Amino acid sequence: MRGLSKRVQALKPSSTVAMNAKALELRRQGVDVIALTAGEPDFDTPEHIKEAAWRALKEGKTKYTPPAGIPELREALARKFARENGLSYTPDQITVGVGGKGVLYNLFQAILDPGDEVILIAPYWVSYAAQVELAGGVPVVVKTEAEAGFVPDPEAVAAAVTPRTKALVVNSPNNPTGAVYPEEVLRALAELAQKHDFYLVSDEIYEHLIYEGTHFSPGRVAPEHTITVNGVAKTYAMTGWRLGYAAGPKDVIQAMTKIQGQSVTHPTSFVQWAVIEALESEKSLEFIRMAREAFDRRRRLVVEGLRALGLKTPEPKGAFYVMPDVTPIHEDELKAGEILLERARVAVVPGTDFKAPGHVRMSYATSEENLKEALRRIGELLG
Ligand SMILES: *Cc1c(COP(=O)(O)O)cnc(C)c1O
Repeated sequence: MRGLSKRVQALKPSSTVAMNAKALELRRQGVDVIALTAGEPDFDTPEHIKEAAWRALKEGKTKYTPPAGIPELREALARKFARENGLSYTPDQITVGVGGKGVLYNLFQAILDPGDEVILIAPYWVSYAAQVELAGGVPVVVKTEAEAGFVPDPEAVAAAVTPRTKALVVNSPNNPTGAVYPEEVLRALAELAQKHDFYLVSDEIYEHLIYEGTHFSPGRVAPEHTITVNGVAKTYAMTGWRLGYAAGPKDVIQAMTKIQGQSVTHPTSFVQWAVIEALESEKSLEFIRMAREAFDRRRRLVVEGLRALGLKTPEPKGAFYVMPDVTPIHEDELKAGEILLERARVAVVPGTDFKAPGHVRMSYATSEENLKEALRRIGELLG
């Protein structure tokens, strides 16, 4: 009998992708919309990385690779983890995938049985909940407060642990809030994973975009329990290249690779070669510095601008998002998002699917000119 699976019927389309599409559609109709919806850097991929991909193509690196990724890339990643994160992984503890998203998908498929619980710290990136549910798992949500800068209280997380807890996901710097968790919070969460023997999934994709504070990898505290997930999309402006990676206990990494071997096989061969260049070239460091400075300027501009308009705005310390309280526009953030789009022609993502009621996510990965105009339009709406 024809019909779609219950699994896919329960799956919600990504709200960030949907809002972006709505803004693009309005723009296509000639409406001048400023989109603050994008979850990607507005910079182009650095030239030296593109050249490395082109070189790999010319050298015929166009065939199947091992499902865990080429050994040269996994060796470069082992060096990266040691150099930047103080983590010691051997290449056989590392797997690459089709974006950080693809890696997380493989991970939840590899560790979850139906009914297993995964603790998510809200507001959270929407794909965690969707991917956990696709694997038969049950998301358990622990809230954080805007007043606390959206940093979790480890005791509140501990209170959510049950005998069915299989994993806890942490994402610092955070999408959608921009929170950077202090080292002591990450240490406490890693110790919790050890104490109750569950996995700590640490999504570190924004590690290089920190404006206040420093990055800490909880895998340093609990190496047997942590799966460190990362990717090149945000650091090197390579969202479309689709390459992510993970490191952790060998059995988990091998299981993830097994799933990949039966699904997408591996990320694109010449992209893997280009990523070695991204990880190891001095030029990448210059690019990261440039991007970080630009994002930091925009961050200050947006936070000051929103506060001056009377919208309560916790200061983001990393990534490129800000989450103002939009209840002065409308109590319901979905309505507030509609009003912002229709009356101010500014597209944002309502906090609903992030579990951030009363808030919207604005991305400041766009020009200062666009940001100033967006603030002017919101000011007009509020005035
Ligand atoms: C962007 C993002 C990812 C992964 O992105 P890919 O493009 O799939 O590499 C993972 N986690 C968070 C929180 C993100 O914002």
